Amino acid sequence: MHMKLAESLDFTRNVDKGAEIHGKWPISSLSGLSDLLLNDQGDLDVSLYFGRQAKWSYVKGTVTGNLAVTCQRCMQPMELALDTQFSLALVRNEDEADLLPEEFEPLMLEDEILSLSRLLEEELLLAIPLVAMHDTECSDVLVEQKQWQAENESLHKKENPFSVLKDLIK
Ligand SMILES: [Zn+2]
Repeated sequence: MHMKLAESLDFTRNVDKGAEIHGKWPISSLSGLSDLLLNDQGDLDVSLYFGRQAKWSYVKGTVTGNLAVTCQRCMQPMELALDTQFSLALVRNEDEADLLPEEFEPLMLEDEILSLSRLLEEELLLAIPLVAMHDTECSDVLVEQKQWQAENESLHKKENPFSVLKDLIK
């Protein structure tokens, strides 16, 4: 049952219900991230869990999906597999924020309305690496450099069998 999520949620009501909400969030609705993304196609899967722990009202969540970003090594497009979690507890001021258990980040709300676009943009800005790169050696220059290094090292080892020992002593 994955439907599109509502833009805003009544935070307190969902906490009272202990609500669990699963849904899709269109990447095109994350306008604050548009500078980082190559396109805004597709959806993110979002799960939200509301509840109370001691005196704290919280929302915990997970966001998964694929974002199109630029690899900072080869400057080609790449897909970033996103899988991020957050735990936020409602606070009314900074004094309350200081008292929060470590597992929570402070959440401040106007009129106790949770704006999902704002929440998701903030969480994703933290989750997207500043320097995203392909998992594999994607740049030709880099691959050549590595090969050259490896050859150079093996030559060096032949010349001097004690180089490994020297490294160990260091
Ligand atoms: Zn790359």
